[in-house]
Formats: sequence, C-alpha cells, structure tokens
Amino acid sequence: MKVFLDSVGCRLNQAELEQFAAKFKQYGYEIADSADEADLAIINTCSVTKEAASDSRGKIRNAARSGHTQVIVTGCWSETEPEAASKMPGVTQVIRNHEKEQIASIVTGIPEPFTNPVSIKREILPGEHFRNRAFIKVQDGCDNYCTFCLTRLARGKSRSVAAETILQDIRAAENGGGKEIVLTGVNLGAWGMDLNPPQGLRDLLNRLLAETSIPRIRLSSLESWNLDEAFISLWENKRLCPHLHLPLQSGSEAVLKRMARRNSLPDFLRLIQCVRQINPLFSVTTDIIVGFPGETDDDFQRTLDFVRTAAFSGGHVFTYSVRPGTAAAKLDGRIPKDVKRERSKILREQLDEQRKSFGMKMIGTTTNVLWESAEPINKENCRLKGFSENYLPVKCLGSQNLLNQISNVEVTDFDGISLAGKIIS
Ligand code: SF4
Repeated sequence: MKVFLDSVGCRLNQAELEQFAAKFKQYGYEIADSADEADLAIINTCSVTKEAASDSRGKIRNAARSGHTQVIVTGCWSETEPEAASKMPGVTQVIRNHEKEQIASIVTGIPEPFTNPVSIKREILPGEHFRNRAFIKVQDGCDNYCTFCLTRLARGKSRSVAAETILQDIRAAENGGGKEIVLTGVNLGAWGMDLNPPQGLRDLLNRLLAETSIPRIRLSSLESWNLDEAFISLWENKRLCPHLHLPLQSGSEAVLKRMARRNSLPDFLRLIQCVRQINPLFSVTTDIIVGFPGETDDDFQRTLDFVRTAAFSGGHVFTYSVRPGTAAAKLDGRIPKDVKRERSKILREQLDEQRKSFGMKMIGTTTNVLWESAEPINKENCRLKGFSENYLPVKCLGSQNLLNQISNVEVTDFDGISLAGKIIS
C-alpha cells in the first residue's frame, strides 16, 4: 500500500507530515511522491489566511481527481470547517487535530505496533515536501489570545512534547544522516511551561546541545515576549543557527493593542540589538499584518518606521483578511481593499530592499552551507544549492557527493536572491 502525504502552510504542518510518514511506515506503507500512484491520500490543511484555506481545498480536489477511493483530511482548515471538509469530493474521513498523532492507527483500525526507538531512522519525504532539514514538532497549541488568529482556535491549549520524545526524534534524524533540525511549534517559546515541573525552551536547547551531536539546530518562529538576554546568550554556541523569525505584526502600539499582542516595541528592538551584538550578521526576519481593522495612515507609518529601525533582513507581509470565528472579525474600522493593497506593496518593497542590503553585507564573509540539492552540469560538477547558517539561499559549483554535507563557503557575490561563492572546505 502507498500513502501520499501533502500539506499547506507552516513548518509545523511539514513536521507533522514527517510524523505521519514515520507512523505509516510502521504499518508497512510506502510513501508515494505523487497522488496518482498512491492508494490513500492524506491532506494536512491550513486556515491561517483565506488563501491558505483555499489552497487546502485545492489540494483536496487534486487528490480526489487522481481517482483515490480515500482522501483523508486533517489540520487547521478542516478543524474549523469540518462539515465543509467532509462534503468535499473523495473525502472519506476528517481527522481532528487532537487525534492526528494516531492518524495511521485510526486509518488502519489497528493499534500502533511497538518499534524500538533506537532503530528508528528518518527518511526524507519524496516529492514536493523533500527537505534535508528535519522538522521536529516540539509543541502544539497556544494560550495567547491574538484577535486575528484562527490557529489558536484550531489547535487548542499549549502542549509541550516531552524532552525524551524530542531527543528520540532528533536521534532518528541523525540515524537518517540529518545534519540540521528545525524545532517547530505553534508557540515554540511556550515549550515546557505546561510540564511538571515547568521548564523553558532554554532548558530544552541546553539539553539538545549537550545530548545530541546534530551539527545545526534552527528554531522556527518565536514570539519576542518569550525571549530575553539569557536566552539569546545560547547563540554563543555555534551549532545554533544565527537566524530568528520574530513576528512583529504591527509597529503601532494602538494596533498591537487591538490585536491583543503581548509585544513591547522597545523590548523587541532591544532583543534585536542583543542578537546583533553576538553576531552582526545574525538574521532577523518577521511577519507583519497590513490593513488590520482600524489601522490609520499614522499606524502604518509607525510600522514602516519600525521595520527600518529594526533593520529586519526580510519578512512576510500578510494583507489582513477576515477569519470568521476570530475576535477581530467583529471589529469595526475595516480598511478598503485598495488601501490595504497599497500599504502591502510599500511594506513588501521596504522589506525586499532590506533583504537585499543584508545579502550584500555577506559578500566577503565566509559561511557554512548545508547543500540541499545538486543539479549536474557536466561529468565533474554540479550546481549545488543550499542555505547558509543565517538562512540565505546559496549556490556554488561543486561535486555531487557534497549533497547533504556542510561546506565552508567564501561569499563573492549576491544576485538579489542567492549568495554565490567558492567552497573553501
Ligand atoms: S501567539 Fe498569537 S498569533 Fe501566535 S498562535 Fe498564539 S494566538 Fe496565534
């Protein structure tokens, strides 16, 4: 039997696909790299924006079109709209978010077999979700109340994965030849707060640094209010990748208040100064919502000014869309579409300019790169592509056997998207 796994959305959904793959393999399933060749399709959906919800429905339709008798849907969109999900063509089952860890057992109707954790070896997913980096889910849910957020409603209260289970997943990644792990969660910085006795993400990182030898540890999105200087000092250990993604959402105190965000703008800036003291080429990226209800021209200008001052090295701009069921859906002061479009354009251009200027600063430096793809160009050489420690795309000429290896690269050029250079060692 073959199962096709697909998802829309965040790194957490990618981490969950990896978990699903490991579970189905325990039952003897092979992982198919396209829906056409599978007996069963599982779609892990997303509802963070209108577009993500629509992409989720598109993925379900595609899987159904390939003639499967079974399309199984899970994730945040089907959690918030289970009726609509169950009525979609080809869908035989909707699995709730709280049940998805047992997905293979639910689908097969057979209790999970025992597998010796020591023998588990991560295999990279085929097809579109191929990633050398292993995405490890360490936390789910969130106890905050950001008024725009559907994820919080879809995923429930914050729950931490036990440190032992995380260590086991990292060992499986190491056994599979992994060189980099990405720790993911809905509210990653809340890891450990629900454990008894309570712990913090810093405790987990200290343990992972001491008890594993994985060369690179990367963190996915974190909320600034969960971090402090002591936490940032962990980056003195070079195995932690110097990149943080810190969602700002707005640079206006008034808008942040309506969003019920816990960000303090001065603390946010202090944090960025702190990481840049450790490493001036530490990359800090962000997410911003534009056109939130009640956002005035002055609020928008404050966001733009903050983005310049923070000198983010890039970021995503989301144009606000109403998500039914959220507190923000009831707020008045809706922003006209053309104003939202114009503000989004201005902010995207600003962040793009900052991304490019950060890339230019890398010229003349050396950086470690994990090679994630190799395209042969002649008998000896390939075009290698990968990511620097601070998460910039890099391309170089080199040999095929460097794939999934880390090289030290002298950066000589930046074409506006990727760094280029020569491999030193
Ligand atoms: S911190 Fe806010 S935006 Fe992030 S998951 Fe929690 S409620 Fe949603």
